[in-house]
Amino acid sequence: MSKPLSDHDRKKQISVRGLAGVENVTELKQNFNRHLHFTLVKDRNVATKRDYYFALANTVRDHLIGRWIRTQQHYYEKDPKRVYYISLEFYMGRTLQNTMVNLALENACDEAMYQLGLDMEELEDMEEDAGLGNGGLGRLAACFLDSMASLGLAAYGYGIRYEFGIFNQKIVNGWQVEEADDWLRYGNPWEKARPEYMRPVRFYGRTEHGPDGVKWVDAQVVLALPYDTPVPGYRNNIVNTMRLWSAKAPCEFNLKDFNVGGYIQAVLDRNLAENISRVLYPNDNFFEGKELRLKQEYFVVSATLQDIIRRFKAKSNSVLTFNDVLHIQVAIQLNDTHPAMAIPELMRVLVDEEKLSWDKAWDICVRTCAYTNHTVLPEALERWPVDLFAHLLPRHLEIVYEINRRHLEVIAAKYPGDNDRLRRMSLIEEGGQKRINMAHLCIVGSHAVNGVAQIHSDILKATVYVPKINSSLSGLHYCNFFPFFFFLIRAVCRASGKRPGWRELLTAAPGYHTAKMIIRLITAIGDVVNNDPVIGDRLKVIFLENYRVTLAEKAIPAADLSEQISTAGTEASGTGNMKFMLNGALTIGTMDGANVEMAEEAGEDNLFIFGMRVDDVDKLDMKGYHAEEYYNRLPELKQAIDQIAGGFFSPKQPDLFKEIVNMLMHHDRFKVFADYEDYIKCQEKVNALYKNPKEWTKKVIYNIAGCGKFSSDRTIAQYAREIWGMEPTLEKLPAPDDKQ
Ligand SMILES: *Cc1c(COP(=O)(O)O)cnc(C)c1O
Repeated sequence: MSKPLSDHDRKKQISVRGLAGVENVTELKQNFNRHLHFTLVKDRNVATKRDYYFALANTVRDHLIGRWIRTQQHYYEKDPKRVYYISLEFYMGRTLQNTMVNLALENACDEAMYQLGLDMEELEDMEEDAGLGNGGLGRLAACFLDSMASLGLAAYGYGIRYEFGIFNQKIVNGWQVEEADDWLRYGNPWEKARPEYMRPVRFYGRTEHGPDGVKWVDAQVVLALPYDTPVPGYRNNIVNTMRLWSAKAPCEFNLKDFNVGGYIQAVLDRNLAENISRVLYPNDNFFEGKELRLKQEYFVVSATLQDIIRRFKAKSNSVLTFNDVLHIQVAIQLNDTHPAMAIPELMRVLVDEEKLSWDKAWDICVRTCAYTNHTVLPEALERWPVDLFAHLLPRHLEIVYEINRRHLEVIAAKYPGDNDRLRRMSLIEEGGQKRINMAHLCIVGSHAVNGVAQIHSDILKATVYVPKINSSLSGLHYCNFFPFFFFLIRAVCRASGKRPGWRELLTAAPGYHTAKMIIRLITAIGDVVNNDPVIGDRLKVIFLENYRVTLAEKAIPAADLSEQISTAGTEASGTGNMKFMLNGALTIGTMDGANVEMAEEAGEDNLFIFGMRVDDVDKLDMKGYHAEEYYNRLPELKQAIDQIAGGFFSPKQPDLFKEIVNMLMHHDRFKVFADYEDYIKCQEKVNALYKNPKEWTKKVIYNIAGCGKFSSDRTIAQYAREIWGMEPTLEKLPAPDDKQ
């Protein structure tokens, strides 16, 4: 399996990446062999490539342990304000290389593996992606953990340890087929189970109102078992924790009416409880009101709040009183409305269990919580049916009603007689099935609300009428980068796989019908274009199968042109746009999401901006959008649509794409034809510039130089100051002695 580099390549590599200390290398080799023997229980005769990966992962992991324990000890002693980032998704990707880079171990490991006749990159390729996310929202959470550790914030990521992450996408005969992502099959060397910190989470039951408050009784208990993953900062010896909860049935689960048949069934039924953490919902920007999903949302929130309060009481209770200082010691950031139940759950704990007055509890709750909105698309907004809530979380429904009653009282006093306003701003949507609007809950229950880009925050402010939206919190960002040398740019572009004349279509693929049909259309167009003798190898259409963090890391640096072409006002921010910009691609895009700020930072002339602005879209909406006007006026567009509709790309099934065409012609909410003409004109400008490498490269340099704003370190420093009331310390801890 080993594929050693040539001596020439090795010298080149070492001269670029710095020398690895001999001592370090010797020790790494020893520890690697020790793990192969004692942890993997293998010798070199029978070890597989995966065994070698695990031996290396364990060797690197050992270097985290002292730093991790000491960081947590440091937090316990200093007792700084803690940040809790609660998210239903953490799209982490792989861990090994990131850990080696942050601990400055990469070169030494590479050399150690080389000396053992192994190729480190091949071993790295054995690691499964931790795909516990759908896309931008989950990837953002992962970047934020990284930045919070790098900035020395006492931060924790809290989420769910899904047994199955985002599905693996297979393309079979041009169609998407989903396959279960069994990412834990071979074990996960980066996590540590903490069964001693297991917490009970309750569901169902009913409430009892008595003289000493409200009791939630007859509930069913599911245990939350925490798994901790270390989150190292960049070369600062800080290691924070991501704690993911796994659902575990209690021993007595369903065992109440005990008999022989009942016992076997009761053990089998443990699956019902444990299904809570079985699988990530593959819904990106789409709300599906399933009970299991609501269970997941409450599960993570309940277990996390118990942890937060335990940690808070362990330290702060002795000095100050509980009810005055939670928000001074604790900040809770809600990644979208998915963990919105933190608000009524915190109220339940403070009022029902800690016996605080409602007013005091509410004050603490609002000061503690902050909410990030990720979209304005109506189909994505969480609106849970009241009936479902009443059944699963009866006490929380009462609390939400009380929050709403007081909220509407304030509005009614401020705007007497404005019933329309009351209806619009209510947490409860009436009419047909009653629903709880979770975004409204988050807005009233938080002291800060932010969007993910300037334009998105502006749209929120204009549509939601809340004074506390923090518009300056724009841009959600990927990683850091530092200046390039002009003369290196072209070389870097070539070496990273950019090839002239290639277009790459990077399309995220949720498991929905229209999305699947669009994927089928892309593969069908590929079948025609890629086999056309006239086109030859001048143009290929390739659908990148199974897009995920590891594939993004390879594909994005290889791209020349980044297409960010959402209709203005529909994409909240985008983050892929920033990654391409950072990695030397030019952008063709609309004035939407973070494209607006990218144009501002790099200079509008250095992007290819086209299409309607938000104002134009609003005007078009007033006038009425009619796809056929564009279809009739633009012969090229007509031809393309006719070809799709007529089976040019699907000769065996001429009707295959009729419904896509029908959607585009008759109910296209995104009004894509309205941007078509300008898009094609703009692509001609792209083509012309691409023929002039010097001018193209100049724009690339302006883009790379201008993307500093899109660093997640920068964003987190701003969150810390403006939302969490903290100052990033940039503190470094002393390096521990890693010797064992
Ligand atoms: C960045 C990223 C996304 C989000 O991309 P957008 O262009 O912001 O939608 C999705 N998936 C992966 C793997 C990513 O790295």
